[in-house]
Formats: sequence, structure tokens, C-alpha cells
Amino acid sequence: MIVWSTIEASCPICSNRTRLREVGSGFVQGQDSDLLVRMGGKHIIQAEIHTCNKCRFSGYASDFVRTISPPARTRFIEEVAPTLVDDPGSTTSRGLSPQKTPLPDVQYHWAARTAEALGLPACEQADRWVRAYWCLRLAPSSYVADALKKSLKKLYLTRAISRLRQGLRSDRDRNRVFLVGELSRRNNNFLMASHYLRRFVERENGAPYLKAAALKLLELSQKRVSQDLTLEEVLYGAKPGKAKPGNSTPDVRPRGGTPGDMG
Ligand SMILES: [Zn+2]
Repeated sequence: MIVWSTIEASCPICSNRTRLREVGSGFVQGQDSDLLVRMGGKHIIQAEIHTCNKCRFSGYASDFVRTISPPARTRFIEEVAPTLVDDPGSTTSRGLSPQKTPLPDVQYHWAARTAEALGLPACEQADRWVRAYWCLRLAPSSYVADALKKSLKKLYLTRAISRLRQGLRSDRDRNRVFLVGELSRRNNNFLMASHYLRRFVERENGAPYLKAAALKLLELSQKRVSQDLTLEEVLYGAKPGKAKPGNSTPDVRPRGGTPGDMG
């Protein structure tokens, strides 16, 4: 991963000075079945997220230059910031102190809550929840204890799927329909997974290689298999890191989700 430069900005909530990284590109090694593009070394998504150490406002560099109204600022400080804890519902600390940057999955969790507080569209909130989930398989978040990881996976996946579905109507990237299906399969919701994967195959104008993957994932959903896989494993039965050359890799960043109850 390449960091082009580091700039300083003021937190839009509390004016605390925060250092922001501007990120370049990374070396792509393959892609997982939920569209995470695998990279060597530190992943770009881990460098693209920022947290104010004082008030815990979190988001992308662009979120730190937003203009936030005084009532929204007061609401964030009084109602949202106190609920941004490292590990909700657990007595196990993940080593967070006010001066320390939390793990990337926590930063994305907080960024999703920040986006919600700012009234950003559902697809923007979904993007942050999906990335929180992706971070769980990247070091250092991947080192957390299995029981905690399992509960965080459930939390991040459930919120990501909900927001993706809410945003699907206004999201023009039809590959998000695939993403809802595959995230639902990984979340053991096989009925919803089958619905969205079938819809992607039959009705959506998505990427052809994802259509082939969706057919195989649909089979797995019908067999109630929730195992995490790479796209190479899904498409070719290959082991990670042995992707066939010439694979196209779509956008790293998810957006997208539709209200409705399939669950
Ligand atoms: Zn702040």
C-alpha cells in the first residue's frame, strides 16, 4: 500500500487537530467472495479511515472537511460520542485509551455510526459497515479472540446487509445485489441469500464473472453452507493466492441496499 502524503485537518466536531493519510494504490493479490480485494501488506481500507482521538468522530478524509450544523454537532457530542465504545456489550477491553487509535474495524464501526448521525444515505452507511466486517480478516483486527470476532462479525454483517438493502433502490451498481446475497450467506441467512443471488443471476445487469460466482454461491446457500471463500475458490476451486491471470477486479468500495423483509 502506498501513502502519498499526510495532511492535518481539524475535527469538524471538536476542532481537535487530526492527521489524515492520502492513500495511493496497493498490490492486488485476489478477491474474496464478498468482493474484498486482497492486498499485500497493510490494506488500503485500513489507511483510509480516520478517528478523532478526542470526540471519536470517524470517517474518511472527506468526512473531516464536512460542514456540520451546530445542532448536529451538539447531538453528536451528547448522544452519539458517549456510545462509541471499543467493545459494546463486553467487559473485555481491546486496549483502547483516549490517546490511542482503535483497531480499523472499530474505526469503521464508529464511522458507520457517525454517518448515521450525520444523516448520510443508507449506501454510505452500508459502505462503512461492510468495511468493518472486511477488517475482521485483516491484521491486527484478525487477532482478536474468536468469541469476540464471532459477535462482531454478526453485528457488522447484520448492519451491513440492512443498510445495503435500504440503499439498493437508489444504488446504480447492481453488483450490490450480489453483495447482499453473499453477505447473507456468510451470515447464515440462507433464505435471503438465495433470494438475492437468484435475483442477481436472473434480473440484474451485473458483472459476468460475478454471475458465474452467484450461481455457485446459490448452490451453497441451498445446501446451507456459510463458509468464507475466495472468488478463486468459488469459480475455479483454487486456493487463495493462485488466481487465474486476467481476472477483473471491481471497485473495492461497496455502497448500496432495499427495504423489504426476506429474512
Ligand atoms: Zn473531534
